[in-house]
Amino acid sequence: METTPTARRLARLRASMARDELDAFVTSQPENMRYLSGFTGGEGVALVSAERAVLASDFRYYEQVKQQAPAFALAEVTGPTPPVLAAVLADMTAWRVGFEPHQVTVEIFEQWRAAAPGVEWVPTSDVVEGLRQEKDADEVRAIEEAVRIADEAMVHLMSWIKPGVTERQVAWEAEVYMRTHGAEALSFTSIVAAGDHGAMAHAMTTDRAIERGDALVIDMGCVYHGYCSDLTRSFCVGEASDEYLAVWNTVLEAQAAAEDAIRGGMPGVDADAVARKIIYGAGYEGKFGHGLGHGVGLAIHEKPRASLTSTDVLTPGTIVTVEPGIYVPGWCGVRIEDMVLVTEDGCRVLTRSPKQPVI
Ligand code: ZN
Ligand code: ZN
Repeated sequence: METTPTARRLARLRASMARDELDAFVTSQPENMRYLSGFTGGEGVALVSAERAVLASDFRYYEQVKQQAPAFALAEVTGPTPPVLAAVLADMTAWRVGFEPHQVTVEIFEQWRAAAPGVEWVPTSDVVEGLRQEKDADEVRAIEEAVRIADEAMVHLMSWIKPGVTERQVAWEAEVYMRTHGAEALSFTSIVAAGDHGAMAHAMTTDRAIERGDALVIDMGCVYHGYCSDLTRSFCVGEASDEYLAVWNTVLEAQAAAEDAIRGGMPGVDADAVARKIIYGAGYEGKFGHGLGHGVGLAIHEKPRASLTSTDVLTPGTIVTVEPGIYVPGWCGVRIEDMVLVTEDGCRVLTRSPKQPVI
């Protein structure tokens, strides 16, 4: 029997709703709506019951909903949305309705409550986000393409960067390259950080000119068919000091060990610990202030997390980043970031950009 991604995803959502004894589930979160229905417009509300699936949206999106979300009935919104929502829920005879307190604003939720006073609104946590964690074959292909474009752009930058160009010029060169080689958007604002700027894990790109011997951190990614890539490389321009090489090699060693250790079923906190142990063991305790990695998919940061405090598990089919770093304030930073696909007995590294400490 052939099933569509939407049919499979709705079946999994309905199984989860049945466990929580929900008559319906409501989401207005753009990636969750897209994941469940195929609708990429981002504005509307998706309502799912055991039998029905409805997408409420306004005039701008009527045709788009019909084309992209054939499994969903269109509920036309011509005025305020909450009364339409209430009517659809009444039609579904839905009383216990799951919603997303982490996604809906207090203001909108109050409007929903006022419009449907008979409904028991049940807060849920990461229901669709949980479904999104394990990627199907089509999703893996889209992510592989987003990774491929970012890899190509990084290789281009490694030969293009010369002393005298500014951080902003590098970021623009990366953006143009990705946008003219198949990317539909950037997955986030690129980070290009030279010298001591690199010591800030999420540095702002500036007009600072890159000098010979500067350490660079470049973190960038793009979107292909809705799916994100995330890639970081660090290197010095022209020449590197022995101290830099020591830091760089420690980060690479930590990344290699984590990629070697990651396998399906491993808790994210354990993956983080593999890399952290190497970095702390080399004398950089306190210099790796973020987690090892995060899931990537329709969103640039999604479940699961691999960090000191994570309770997530790296299940087979999960795509996560592996991005250890060392940051020395006033001097420089080194982060090397791959994306990996977690399998039953290991992981497959998707990123192919070369790793070298000097360009
Ligand atoms: Zn990144
Ligand atoms: Zn990342």
